[in-house]
Amino acid sequence: MTDPTCKACQGSWPREDHFIADLSLSRAYLHDDQFFPGWTVVVFKRHATELFHLAPTERILLMEDVSRIAKILAQIYEAKKINYELLGNQLPHIHWHVIPRLATDPAPLEPVWRVPHEPLFRSGVEIQSAVQLLQSAIQTTR
Ligand SMILES: [Zn+2]
Repeated sequence: MTDPTCKACQGSWPREDHFIADLSLSRAYLHDDQFFPGWTVVVFKRHATELFHLAPTERILLMEDVSRIAKILAQIYEAKKINYELLGNQLPHIHWHVIPRLATDPAPLEPVWRVPHEPLFRSGVEIQSAVQLLQSAIQTTR
Protein backbone atom coordinates (compact mmCIF):
# COMPACT_ATOMS: atom_id res chain seq x y z
CA MET A 1 0.00 0.00 0.00
CA THR A 2 1.62 3.22 -1.16
CA ASP A 3 0.54 6.76 -1.84
CA PRO A 4 2.15 8.17 -5.00
CA THR A 5 2.08 11.69 -3.56
CA CYS A 6 3.93 10.68 -0.37
CA LYS A 7 7.69 11.35 -0.13
CA ALA A 8 8.17 8.36 2.17
CA CYS A 9 6.33 6.01 -0.21
CA GLN A 10 8.22 7.37 -3.21
CA GLY A 11 11.52 6.72 -1.46
CA SER A 12 12.68 10.33 -1.75
CA TRP A 13 12.75 10.66 2.07
CA PRO A 14 14.62 9.69 4.22
CA ARG A 15 17.94 9.55 2.39
CA GLU A 16 19.07 6.03 1.49
CA ASP A 17 22.63 6.81 2.57
CA HIS A 18 21.24 7.41 6.10
CA PHE A 19 19.72 3.93 6.27
CA ILE A 20 20.38 2.10 9.55
CA ALA A 21 18.18 -0.98 9.70
CA ASP A 22 15.30 -2.94 8.27
CA LEU A 23 13.08 -3.75 11.28
CA SER A 24 9.92 -5.83 11.44
CA LEU A 25 7.42 -3.24 10.17
CA SER A 26 9.63 -0.20 9.77
CA ARG A 27 13.00 1.06 8.62
CA ALA A 28 15.33 3.25 10.66
CA TYR A 29 17.39 6.13 9.27
CA LEU A 30 19.54 8.87 10.71
CA HIS A 31 17.66 12.14 10.46
CA ASP A 32 19.15 14.77 8.12
CA ASP A 33 19.54 17.25 10.98
CA GLN A 34 22.10 15.91 13.46
CA PHE A 35 22.11 19.00 15.70
CA PHE A 36 20.83 16.55 18.31
CA PRO A 37 23.38 13.75 17.81
CA GLY A 38 21.81 10.43 16.94
CA TRP A 39 18.42 11.84 15.94
CA THR A 40 16.79 8.89 14.16
CA VAL A 41 13.53 8.38 12.29
CA VAL A 42 11.68 5.06 12.29
CA VAL A 43 9.46 4.95 9.19
CA PHE A 44 6.51 2.58 8.86
CA LYS A 45 6.96 0.41 5.75
CA ARG A 46 3.52 0.89 4.28
CA HIS A 47 1.54 4.07 3.88
CA ALA A 48 -0.58 4.91 6.93
CA THR A 49 -1.19 8.24 8.58
CA GLU A 50 -2.66 7.49 12.01
CA LEU A 51 -1.89 4.91 14.68
CA PHE A 52 -5.57 4.00 14.83
CA HIS A 53 -5.39 2.93 11.17
CA LEU A 54 -3.05 0.09 12.13
CA ALA A 55 -4.05 -3.36 13.23
CA PRO A 56 -3.36 -3.95 16.94
CA THR A 57 -0.52 -6.36 16.10
CA GLU A 58 1.04 -3.75 13.80
CA ARG A 59 1.01 -1.19 16.61
CA ILE A 60 2.71 -3.66 18.91
CA LEU A 61 5.39 -4.56 16.40
CA LEU A 62 5.97 -0.91 15.48
CA MET A 63 6.46 -0.01 19.15
CA GLU A 64 8.90 -2.93 19.45
CA ASP A 65 10.86 -1.49 16.51
CA VAL A 66 10.87 1.98 18.09
CA SER A 67 11.93 0.59 21.47
CA ARG A 68 14.73 -1.43 19.95
CA ILE A 69 16.15 1.65 18.23
CA ALA A 70 15.69 3.75 21.37
CA LYS A 71 17.61 1.25 23.49
CA ILE A 72 20.53 1.24 21.06
CA LEU A 73 20.57 5.04 20.80
CA ALA A 74 20.54 5.32 24.60
CA GLN A 75 23.56 3.01 24.84
CA ILE A 76 25.61 4.44 21.97
CA TYR A 77 24.99 8.11 22.74
CA GLU A 78 24.82 7.69 26.54
CA ALA A 79 21.53 9.56 26.46
CA LYS A 80 20.01 10.98 29.63
CA LYS A 81 16.57 10.63 28.02
CA ILE A 82 15.08 9.49 24.77
CA ASN A 83 12.35 11.59 23.14
CA TYR A 84 9.68 9.86 21.04
CA GLU A 85 7.63 12.01 18.68
CA LEU A 86 5.00 11.02 16.14
CA LEU A 87 3.74 14.12 14.35
CA GLY A 88 3.15 13.81 10.62
CA ASN A 89 1.97 17.38 10.08
CA GLN A 90 4.55 17.98 7.36
CA LEU A 91 4.75 14.40 6.09
CA PRO A 92 1.59 12.42 6.83
CA HIS A 93 3.15 8.94 6.75
CA ILE A 94 3.73 7.32 10.13
CA HIS A 95 7.32 7.94 11.23
CA TRP A 96 8.61 8.19 14.77
CA HIS A 97 11.33 10.65 15.66
CA VAL A 98 13.55 8.94 18.23
CA ILE A 99 15.89 11.52 19.68
CA PRO A 100 18.64 10.96 22.24
CA ARG A 101 18.90 13.90 24.63
CA LEU A 102 22.41 14.11 26.01
CA ALA A 103 24.03 15.58 29.09
CA THR A 104 25.32 18.37 26.81
CA ASP A 105 21.83 19.20 25.50
CA PRO A 106 21.42 22.98 25.07
CA ALA A 107 17.77 22.94 26.23
CA PRO A 108 17.05 19.73 28.13
CA LEU A 109 13.53 20.76 29.19
CA GLU A 110 12.32 21.63 25.69
CA PRO A 111 11.10 19.45 22.85
CA VAL A 112 13.61 19.64 19.99
CA TRP A 113 11.17 21.61 17.83
CA ARG A 114 11.28 24.43 20.39
CA VAL A 115 15.08 24.71 20.28
CA PRO A 116 16.04 27.29 17.62
CA HIS A 117 19.03 26.04 15.64
CA GLU A 118 20.45 25.76 12.16
CA PRO A 119 20.10 22.15 10.94
CA LEU A 120 23.42 20.35 11.25
CA PHE A 121 24.07 18.33 8.11
CA ARG A 122 26.96 15.94 8.71
CA SER A 123 29.34 14.88 5.96
CA GLY A 124 28.86 11.55 4.21
CA VAL A 125 31.82 10.08 6.08
CA GLU A 126 30.43 11.15 9.47
CA ILE A 127 27.00 9.77 8.64
CA GLN A 128 28.49 6.47 7.48
CA SER A 129 30.50 6.06 10.65
CA ALA A 130 27.42 6.74 12.84
CA VAL A 131 25.32 4.36 10.74
CA GLN A 132 27.92 1.60 11.03
CA LEU A 133 28.15 2.02 14.79
CA LEU A 134 24.36 1.71 15.11
CA GLN A 135 24.22 -1.24 12.71
CA SER A 136 26.78 -3.20 14.69
CA ALA A 137 24.90 -2.43 17.92
CA ILE A 138 21.64 -3.65 16.40
CA GLN A 139 23.21 -6.98 15.50
CA THR A 140 24.17 -7.59 19.11
CA THR A 141 21.09 -6.13 20.86
CA ARG A 142 17.67 -7.71 21.06
ZN1 LIG B 1 3.50 7.15 2.48
